Formats: sequence, C-alpha cells, structure tokens
Amino acid sequence: METIREPLRNARIVDRSDVVVVGGGPAGISAAVSAARTGASVTLIERYPYVGGLAAGGMVLVLDDMVNGVEITVRGICMEMIERMKTLGLCVTPTDGDRQLDIRDTPEAWQRWARWGLFDFHTPSAPHPICYAAAFDPDAFKRVSYDILRESGVKLRTHSWFSSAIVENGTIKGVVCQTKSGREAIMGDVVIDASGDLDVAADAGAQHTDGNFILTTVSRWGGIDTEAAERFEFEEPEKFKAIDHEAKRLIGGCWSFWWLKTPLPGVIWLNCPHMPKLSGLRVEDLTYAELEGRGRIARLLDFARANLPGFENAHVIDFAPQTGVRQSRLLQGEYVVTKDDVMNRQHFTDTVCRGRDYYTPYRAMLPKEVDQLIVAGRHYSATIQAQKSSREIPPCMAMGEAAGVAATVALNAGVKVRDADVKAIQKQLRAQGADPGDVPSENATYLEAAE
Ligand SMILES: Cc1cc2nc3c(=O)[nH]c(=O)nc-3n(C[C@H](O)[C@H](O)[C@H](O)COP(=O)(O)OP(=O)(O)OC[C@H]3O[C@@H](n4cnc5c(N)ncnc54)[C@H](O)[C@@H]3O)c2cc1C
Repeated sequence: METIREPLRNARIVDRSDVVVVGGGPAGISAAVSAARTGASVTLIERYPYVGGLAAGGMVLVLDDMVNGVEITVRGICMEMIERMKTLGLCVTPTDGDRQLDIRDTPEAWQRWARWGLFDFHTPSAPHPICYAAAFDPDAFKRVSYDILRESGVKLRTHSWFSSAIVENGTIKGVVCQTKSGREAIMGDVVIDASGDLDVAADAGAQHTDGNFILTTVSRWGGIDTEAAERFEFEEPEKFKAIDHEAKRLIGGCWSFWWLKTPLPGVIWLNCPHMPKLSGLRVEDLTYAELEGRGRIARLLDFARANLPGFENAHVIDFAPQTGVRQSRLLQGEYVVTKDDVMNRQHFTDTVCRGRDYYTPYRAMLPKEVDQLIVAGRHYSATIQAQKSSREIPPCMAMGEAAGVAATVALNAGVKVRDADVKAIQKQLRAQGADPGDVPSENATYLEAAE
C-alpha cells in the first residue's frame, strides 16, 4: 500500500497522573474508580463526549454473565452501579424467588423474564433458568458512571482520541491524544488500556492477534405495547413463530430474541442484526455496517408494524452511536486464556477476577513487551474463541476493577505492575466488595456459549 510520511509534531503535556486509563467504557470506568479509591491520582481518557462504552453509547442493555448457578460471581463496582441504577428506577433484576425456580415447572416465571433477557442463555434449550442479570437504561449507566467517577476524584477528559503511546526503553510513560485543540500528552506512571480494541498496547508494540466477530448496529424502538406483544407470543405460539421467522429472515442474523424490554415503558432494544466478516478496525467495514444495519432495521420496522401485534405504532428512537464491535485486537500477553480454560473453569493461582463460572489470571492482563501497561476489557489476552464466551460487560468491569487495584498495589510497593503482589491485589479486591475468584467454586456448570 502507498504511504506518506507524516511530519513529527509536538504535543502539549496537559496532565500527569499516577494512573492513566484510556477508554471510558465499563472496564475503564471500573479501573479508574478502583485506582482512585485506593489512593492513586487518575486521569480517564475517552474519545466520545460521554462515558459508558458499549453499555451506554453501544446501547447494549443487559448486564449478564455474572452468575454461576445462583451464586453471583461479579460484584464490586458492577454491583454498586446496578444498585445505584435500581435506586433511580432505571434497572430491573429478577426477584430472588424466580431465580430459584425450576423453570420447567413454572412457565409463568419464564414469561415474566424472557423478554427482559434475564435468563441463563448458556443452558442448551429454552426455557432457560432465570438468573441474576440486569436490564438497564443507557442514560442511567452514564449518569451513575459520572457520579462514581466524580465522587472518587477521577479527572475525566472526554473528546480525546488516543493516538499514540509514549514508550521509552520498553516502559510506557504516557499517551498522546488527538483533540480539537491539537495533540495533547497525558503522562502516567501506569497506563491501563481499556479501549476495547487494544489501541494503546498495540501501538506500544504489544503482541496481539486480530480477531473479528459479528458487528451490530443496535437500535431502540418506542411506541411498543409490550404487554400485547408478549400476550401474542405466549398465547398464540404458532402464529407468533411464523411472524418471528419472517422477521428474522429480514434481519439476516440475530439471536433467538431479536427484541428485549428496557426499563422505559414502551421502549425496546434490538441486539441485531448480525453482520459477520467485518472488522471493527476498518473504516470501510464500520461505514458499511452502519448503512447496512440501518437498511435492515428499516425493513424490519415496516414488517413489524404491519404484522406483529403490539408493534403497530413502533418507531425508531435511535441507533447506538458506538458501533457494536464485539471483538477486534486481542492481547497475546503473559498468559493467553484458551477456550478450554473458559469451558473447563480453569482456576489460576493469580486469578484476580471472574465472570460467570470462569476465572481470569492477572497474567492475561499483562503484555510481554511493555512495562507499566495493564490491559482490561474485551481485548484481554485470550484466543479468539475464548474471548467470544468471556467478554460480557460484568466480567469486563471486574477486570477493570482488578486492573485499578493492581496499579495502586504496584505503585505503593514501588515495583513494576508486572511484579505486583497478587495476594495483595486479591485481598484489596475482597476488601472493596469484589470477588477476585481466588477461591474456586465447586459447582460450576458450563454448557454452551452464545449471545
Ligand atoms: C451488539 C453487542 C451486544 C452485546 N450484548 C451483550 C449483552 O447482552 N450483555 C453483556 O454483558 N455484554 C454484551 N456485549 C459485550 C459487551 O458489550 C462488551 O464486551 C463490553 O462492553 C466491553 O467493555 P470494554 O470496556 O472492554 O469495551 P467498550 O465497551 O468497547 O469500551 C471501550 C471504551 O473505550 C473508548 N475508546 C476506544 N478507543 C479509544 C481511543 N482510541 N481513544 C479514546 N477512547 C477510546 C470507547 O469509546 C469506549 O468508551 C455485547 C456487545 C455488542 C457489540
């Protein structure tokens, strides 16, 4: 490919912190808050005007993959945010009673929760057991994120697009962002890459692999009579199936539930369409996905209005401003988590967080080549297949929380993050209400991953 050489430019140093977090998504928010709460000065950098990542701008509106049967495995900052959103009336979780039921004997429980998406989709066939998960409003996620960031004293810099890593002799010293005012440098003793796409670690020279999975342009629709729609689905299953089948044909790829309820009355979200073989890193693919996704949703809307009870007055409220990228670059770090590790619930002595019934070792957050850099989120060190079933929002938040603690543990001890005392990280995580996964469960039951 033809290239041109860009002239070298100066970047103004606009901030210095103990810890610089790049990416204000679920992992980055948790990392920044936990580092700040454990005593570090922290700067959080985000390219968009708002924080929340895929959970806010991506309008991915169910927090799941946080239980092992009835045991809740992701706690800490994730649970704190759920509770805060619930207080605002903008987050729904299933009742404890419904979580204990044998779903085969209680179809009414399935009907209560299915269209919220609050069930264990890892079990092979519907009806799936109802499990702890949270359906939430995207603006509530932003609001609560801003609250905890402000309360913990994190310095927030939005509208700042990470552009390059400052690396000297194999150690990261800070980052440069492209902004409306030009190029700005933010210096830090530890940098946490929570960009989701490994932007920082890749630029710093860390080994990685280029994964890709389906892209999705998530949308929200309003004007839905969800009660009428659910009545039709459960009382006239054969007629429903025929219409649902045609809807899915028009979408051209989706999970079994193409729409789910949100806490706002009459508002649903659509975790579709699936658009495979596109890269979340290529401008051409991302542009194509936006146009193609919108076209498919427009056709689906016409069909649903004409054919699906409850959808007569349906209209699009918005498309997610952050394109739904599930996987792109993946770190190949000190340890690379495999699908077998996830499926077999492999436990590690340096486990610092967990999701569902699997465990994540601290080494899977550390690049081999660069010092003082920690990676947290959906781009952590895993194989392409392993990441597909270990990348949901709560586990990414747990990883972020662990990264923030690891940074302060290392800084306080005056050692490299690579040499941070894992026991001290685990202990601090427990002290702040998180579950570092240092004690393996006995009853894990992993079956099939899909989302
Ligand atoms: C369509 C879709 C449906 C999904 N469904 C579910 C679901 O139902 N439940 C669930 O729990 N999970 C679901 N997931 C997975 C989940 O959303 C992600 O894995 C999770 O949000 C990852 O969190 P993260 O913080 O690692 O990354 P992200 O949420 O992607 O956050 C990364 C942040 O970094 C910022 N950033 C990126 N690059 C830069 C840069 N260069 N400079 C500055 N900032 C930058 C981004 O703007 C963003 O704020 C879904 C994902 C998709 C795409």
